Amino acid sequence: MKYKRILLKLSGEALTGSQSYGIDPEVLERYSQEIKKAIDKGVEVAIVIGGGNIYRGVQAEKSGIDRVQGDYMGMLATLINAMAIQSSLEKIGVDTRLMSGLKIDQVCEQFIRRRALRHLEKGRVVIFGAGIGNPYFTTDSTASLRAVEVEADVVLKGTRVDGVYTADPEKDPKAEKFDSISFAEVYQRGLNVMDMTAFTLCKENNLPIIVFDMNKSGNLVKLVEGEKVGTLIAE
Ligand code: UDP
Repeated sequence: MKYKRILLKLSGEALTGSQSYGIDPEVLERYSQEIKKAIDKGVEVAIVIGGGNIYRGVQAEKSGIDRVQGDYMGMLATLINAMAIQSSLEKIGVDTRLMSGLKIDQVCEQFIRRRALRHLEKGRVVIFGAGIGNPYFTTDSTASLRAVEVEADVVLKGTRVDGVYTADPEKDPKAEKFDSISFAEVYQRGLNVMDMTAFTLCKENNLPIIVFDMNKSGNLVKLVEGEKVGTLIAE
């Protein structure tokens, strides 16, 4: 295996699938099967999932809700998704632990780094819910921070596009895909890989990021085996 320990970042929006809101059970099951394939190869898997399918802090102000309050609502949204993915993974026999950035004792453990490491070593999928527990951050920043903390080998950002392009491929037909690109070039070209906080954290800690299409079956396993899929962002 090329990577022994991975941090998989999934967007909340992707969970909506063919529905207009919420969680599509078909997407949930598909993602869980993909994750199981990686686990079966002996890879240690940590997951951060977004909350954009339910709520984002930036929406709050538009509806007259305080921004910080909105961010906490967003964090709770990520926890709902995390609970859904936990349940879906357990249904197919994958051991999991849900660790939260906010203290919600009845449903999950609090994030404690040493405990997270122990779970990973035991082969459990560790899902980090509720972001880092602070407003004004995103789940991309959570993914970078937790990846650095648990010493993951790579951040795998599963999206609906198959990598990083010169422009948005959904808008510009001339957009070209990068197989690999340096942190510096992403910055110079102003490409949107992750928000700056998340991106800088990876850059400063020399933690590679791979952007790939999570909706294509087999991609995750190919990546952990070292096959070139998506776009690699590294030093
Ligand atoms: N959020 C936060 N702190 C964190 C992580 C998330 O305040 O550490 C809030 C923020 O409001 C964000 C929302 O939770 O908009 C949902 O996360 P995100 O937008 O990253 O989800 P995604 O776009 O990946 O679905």
